[in-house]
Amino acid sequence: MPATHEVTNQAPPLQGHDVAAYRPLLDGLRANGAGWAQDALHELGTLAGSARAQEWGRVAEKVPPVLHTHDRYGHRIDEVEYHPYYHELMDVSVRHGLHAAPWREEKPGAHVARSAKMFVWCQADAGHLCPISMTYAAIPALRTEPELAALYEPLLGNPVYEPELRAPLEKSALIAGMSMTEKQGGSDVRANTTKAVPNADGSFALTGHKWFTSAPNSDVFLTLAVAPGGLSCFLVPKILPDGSRNTVHLQRLKDKLGNKSNASSEIEYDNALGWPIGEQGRGVATIIKMVNMTRLDCLTCSASAMRLGLSQALHHAQHRSAFGGLLIDAPLMRNVLADLAVEAEAATLVTMRLAGAVDRAGADEHEAELRRIGIAISKYWVCKRAPVHAGEALECLGGNGYVEESGMPRLYREAPLTSIWEGSGNVAALDALRAMARQPATVEAYFAEVEKASGVDARLDDAIALLRKELSDFEDVEYRARRVVELMALVLQGAELHRTGDAAVADAFCATRLGGDWGGAFGTLPTAADTEAILARAAI
Ligand SMILES: Cc1cc2nc3c(=O)[nH]c(=O)nc-3n(C[C@H](O)[C@H](O)[C@H](O)COP(=O)(O)OP(=O)(O)OC[C@H]3O[C@@H](n4cnc5c(N)ncnc54)[C@H](O)[C@@H]3O)c2cc1C
Repeated sequence: MPATHEVTNQAPPLQGHDVAAYRPLLDGLRANGAGWAQDALHELGTLAGSARAQEWGRVAEKVPPVLHTHDRYGHRIDEVEYHPYYHELMDVSVRHGLHAAPWREEKPGAHVARSAKMFVWCQADAGHLCPISMTYAAIPALRTEPELAALYEPLLGNPVYEPELRAPLEKSALIAGMSMTEKQGGSDVRANTTKAVPNADGSFALTGHKWFTSAPNSDVFLTLAVAPGGLSCFLVPKILPDGSRNTVHLQRLKDKLGNKSNASSEIEYDNALGWPIGEQGRGVATIIKMVNMTRLDCLTCSASAMRLGLSQALHHAQHRSAFGGLLIDAPLMRNVLADLAVEAEAATLVTMRLAGAVDRAGADEHEAELRRIGIAISKYWVCKRAPVHAGEALECLGGNGYVEESGMPRLYREAPLTSIWEGSGNVAALDALRAMARQPATVEAYFAEVEKASGVDARLDDAIALLRKELSDFEDVEYRARRVVELMALVLQGAELHRTGDAAVADAFCATRLGGDWGGAFGTLPTAADTEAILARAAI
């Protein structure tokens, strides 16, 4: 009998590798003062690349969370049941300090180290990092109210995962969520209608709805509601101090495009108890401290998604032959892969640089201004590039990339999310303009930063000059916001590549993204690009 089912010319699964062994990530880590974290990063990277962790991620996404609104007797319980593998992922994240380590350790480079860990662990599963990111980001907002912070911060920062729902102050560790978006107003949070009525004991009773609240099993939610003094921020626990359930009712879970391991709910607050964080009427100013940190994570996860797609594409091309040779040796495939590598490195380095700005912002004015403007412009651009990158990486696997088992459809569905939440594209671009208008020092900090790379590349110098011209005229600037912000982000990436990246990558980046020697799709690097060096640097 002839053998009809011989399997040949298929790539083996990409498993058992160290996800952290990515040179741009390690260079960015070291350049931003977190070289001390390398061993821990490799430990987490090895776990992220293991068959075990990949299975956790695959199954947690495949078997999405289930909402239980009531118990068998009809009492409201408003709880979400997750697959055990989701809890495994959460446990690793928390034990490795992704949810709070920099606030606890306050060590130079701590935010960079954490961001690099997010980068590697995101490649096991992106969805569960939503509550991890929100917990990390809640702490600066919570510090607005020192008394609450003194009680809650040690619990939010504890590297222990305790998913059981109990009164927060009786637990040893907590997870935080964020509840802003309403049906009639998401980006426009000032259109919020949830009401907060003061009680005699200093608490408030919140009544209203929220259209998106992710991770609804969180112990506490930072929630926006309209108090007598205006839109304000509240800490709303899921379980009250006496052990009873707060009246935070989960109506349903969203059926989302991707991000399925993470539950995102619609909530009704029915006289739910909350405690104010910050002054009444200053809700946006308070919660923006949280949003600024989750925006950094949007960048980190987008850069990580690019690395994941690139790794899968490289791996496939190294094992798959077509027309008599390995795909990795086909000149046009090399162009595509190198172009994807350039994009991923630019995203990775700028993310590490901005995490470094977060680290140094407290003691350094330049870094504080750069953090503000750099995260705003890069949130817009890096997150916008992620879906395009994922689509091209998927195509490198041919038909196999379109099949669920490859993991590429999951990556592709996840990719647009970071560009939507925490400020969708236009809102992110307008936020960058707002930063420049309200804090002109951010513009100076931005130019001071990119001009550190002046004189090394004429295309970068020309782009900086063009940008100065664009920013000298604010006529119709809202209409032009995307163009201006994109150019700012590209220039920052070009400068960072020249300063801390690889010369071949920096050259290809500036030739294409700044110099215009590029087509409309990936795989259009000019002949002069050193694809050999670029691909060597991206090797798995
Ligand atoms: C999976 C998922 C999870 C989420 N989890 C949470 C959560 O935990 N907590 C929470 O509070 N929210 C959450 N959100 C909500 C999310 O933050 C919002 O959906 C997002 O901020 C966009 O707001 P919106 O949906 O109201 O869109 P809109 O504000 O209606 O925006 C629609 C479009 O209009 C554009 N736009 C808006 N204003 C302008 C303008 N002035 N000029 C030009 N264009 C403009 C936007 O860029 C966007 O493209 C989640 C969303 C998703 C998809």
